[in-house]
Amino acid sequence: MTTDKVDIVIIGAGVVGLAVAAELSAQQPGRSIVVLEKNEAFGRETSSRNSEVIHAGIYYPSGSLKARLCVEGKELLYHFCEKWDIPHRRCGKLIVANTREEKVSLDALLEKAAANGVTDLEELERAELKRLEPHIRAECALYSPSTGIINSHSLMARLEQNALQNGALPAYCHLVTSVESLNAGSGCRVRFMNPDGTTDAIECNCLINCAGLSADRIAALCGIDTTAAGYTLRLCKGEYFSLPQNRAGLVNRLVYPPPLHELTGLGIHATTTLDGRLRLGPNTIYIEEEDYSIDSSHATDFYRAVKPFLPFVEEGELEPEMAGIRPKLSGPGEPFRDFIIREESDRGLPFLINLIGIESPGLTSCLSIARLVTNLINY
Ligand SMILES: Cc1cc2nc3c(=O)[nH]c(=O)nc-3n(C[C@H](O)[C@H](O)[C@H](O)COP(=O)(O)OP(=O)(O)OC[C@H]3O[C@@H](n4cnc5c(N)ncnc54)[C@H](O)[C@@H]3O)c2cc1C
Repeated sequence: MTTDKVDIVIIGAGVVGLAVAAELSAQQPGRSIVVLEKNEAFGRETSSRNSEVIHAGIYYPSGSLKARLCVEGKELLYHFCEKWDIPHRRCGKLIVANTREEKVSLDALLEKAAANGVTDLEELERAELKRLEPHIRAECALYSPSTGIINSHSLMARLEQNALQNGALPAYCHLVTSVESLNAGSGCRVRFMNPDGTTDAIECNCLINCAGLSADRIAALCGIDTTAAGYTLRLCKGEYFSLPQNRAGLVNRLVYPPPLHELTGLGIHATTTLDGRLRLGPNTIYIEEEDYSIDSSHATDFYRAVKPFLPFVEEGELEPEMAGIRPKLSGPGEPFRDFIIREESDRGLPFLINLIGIESPGLTSCLSIARLVTNLINY
């Protein structure tokens, strides 16, 4: 890389950093934009280790960024998929209930969804449900027709391509190691390690922190007291197990239990993949270090979680598939925390836009997040 002064540096080439690069380079042509990514290609972390669900926006507190950006992002994403031929399927999702407590929680979800502008949910009784999905066991369900699945790799490849065509430059194997403010807050100098291990620096007027699991560390490098700011991330692993190929055709829609207690995760659910597999997960395990291993003994917990609504699942047939890590702002049992998407002038860092805690529904919301970030740039 030879450039040493640019308008905008984006840290991180996950789906969010790429969406921001694509949107900014389209909306503000002529601005020089570099994306610094420590891995050898885009999407090697959370953006390729998730359920690949286009969420409808049902669960999040009304008025939150998660609710708003998910509902907006879903529409933008379906439109983008159609325009650019990204593999996806608007397959729909069932949130199923068997117990009294679960049925009550469906009513609450219906209200929450309506408050978020999700007005297409349908209440299904047992007979209708049986007709739609004969292999599922449930007394009733909520049906979300606008939930879908997407190939996140194809999405990121297209976003990268669009950003490149608009002149933005992704720089892979470039690990950001420090950030210094320039005089009078007129930008910053970003130091990074090159692929050959040497170090270099680049100056920019605007730095956008899309560093996923490391976003709090990048904020700290910029001089923010992340504990005082409430920016400290907790890592929360989600494991997935897959079912054998012969189970794939038994369910055509996504099937979730109701989220009964809090929103650490959405409960172990079944997703169909675009290549026709049936996958269970994710669970929620808080961890201290990034670690993508899967504990195969958790198969029993997965089996017990889904057996009530997927009676055909047998314990011995679950195979460990993959794990992803959520960058969470809340610890175990702590209340809901929203996405942080913030221009940091009031901390004396007018060049900085932080995106912290971009867990689910970050994939669904990537295009609406990119629009929001573009509107925050004020120099
Ligand atoms: C188990 C699980 C299931 C999920 N399911 C869904 C779902 O079904 N639907 C949905 O909408 N969302 C889902 N999500 C959330 C979604 O995956 C994320 O919100 C989204 O991928 C976040 O993208 P990102 O670009 O912010 O982060 P990332 O993909 O993590 O990208 C951040 C990038 O920053 C880079 N980076 C970090 N530090 C540095 C540095 N110092 N220098 C240079 N580069 C750096 C990293 O290498 C990485 O590539 C799920 C998440 C998990 C964990």
